[in-house]
Amino acid sequence: MTRPTVSLIEGDGIGPEITAATVRAIDAAGGQLDWDRVDAGASAVTRHGDPLPAATIESIKRTGLALKAPLATPSGGGYRSVNVTLRQHFDLYANVRPARTLAGVPSRFTNVDLVIVRENTEDLYAGIEHYIDPRRTAAESIAIITRFGSERVIVYAFEYARRHGRRKVTLVHKANILKMSNGLFLDTGREVAKRYPDIEFDDMIVDATAMKLVIAPERFDVIVTMNLFGDILSDLAAGLIGGLGVAPAANIGDAPVASSITASGTASGAPSGAPSGAAPGGRACAMFEAVHGTAPDIAGKGIANPTGLMLSAAMLLDHVDQGAAAGRLRAGVMAALANAETRTGDLGGKASTAQYTDAVIREMG
Ligand code: NAD
Repeated sequence: MTRPTVSLIEGDGIGPEITAATVRAIDAAGGQLDWDRVDAGASAVTRHGDPLPAATIESIKRTGLALKAPLATPSGGGYRSVNVTLRQHFDLYANVRPARTLAGVPSRFTNVDLVIVRENTEDLYAGIEHYIDPRRTAAESIAIITRFGSERVIVYAFEYARRHGRRKVTLVHKANILKMSNGLFLDTGREVAKRYPDIEFDDMIVDATAMKLVIAPERFDVIVTMNLFGDILSDLAAGLIGGLGVAPAANIGDAPVASSITASGTASGAPSGAPSGAAPGGRACAMFEAVHGTAPDIAGKGIANPTGLMLSAAMLLDHVDQGAAAGRLRAGVMAALANAETRTGDLGGKASTAQYTDAVIREMG
């Protein structure tokens, strides 16, 4: 088995605590990974005077893999979100957010098992906005949808479905109203679906999807959609399984982009829709992260819940073909969550981060 090196970003707030717990759990599960520890976020400003040091970018370019704990983003002013900069710089076009019922985590449903694949670079998030008049009484935001950007994320969704033994891909859109941009996404999906006769395909309008998700989430398997709808629906799906605190995520690209980055962390990566640049060895790039933030209110107390980062690490292990270790890690997490004695405070338990991690490791069997 090859032993990939992964850029490890401990992050801010509870980041170092949940990272230490996750690294312990990966080792116990038999994950074969080497770590290149690099800094980003507020801790990188303190240590290097830069929220995204060049050494961090170079490390991810070299390894093509990152496991990232949450990073603090100053509100209103200060430096730009490092999370967004990293996604753009490495052209991480597919945001993958599984939502699966976790026994022991309070939620309204017991049978959710779906994955949302969100296009991560285009749509209204392309950043094309302006005021129409000098008095700023009207503004315009432009949604960019390209065939290139649509095809690569839809292909990713079908390939994901095939790799993970999932039976159906549902494409979510608003093509009844946005006939050109969303129509292009839908048409591209219908074309791509013909190449995957083994996977069932259907499409659904986004408003109907929102309603069906909260009535019958078991109807869904893999959902693929554009950036704005994906942003909203993936948080909705996290709500179906008990909230953002335990949700994992992956951001997947084709290859690290050869672009420059300024000391303030501003990326000048490939424009939306453009093919990603050449990477050393042409390796795909992927970044795995918990969905929650830095939880500054509980940082340093040893009580943070590392589940989101552990489940993100399981996705990383799957990604590097270490499925057996991923399975052991997930099984440990599921069993530790199912036991009220070993849950952390945010889920109504009394266990510390270390006690929960001990239970995860014990339960791997
Ligand atoms: P948050 O997710 O950090 O905290 C919201 C609440 O959830 C808090 O009460 C916190 O204690 C709790 N919580 C979150 N994660 C937890 C965990 N693992 N275990 C136990 N409790 C947990 O959201 P926020 O307060 O809005 O943001 C704080 C900072 O995090 C901000 O600087 C924000 O920009 C940043 N942030 C980063 C990311 C990221 O890096 N991906 C995502 C969201 C927010």
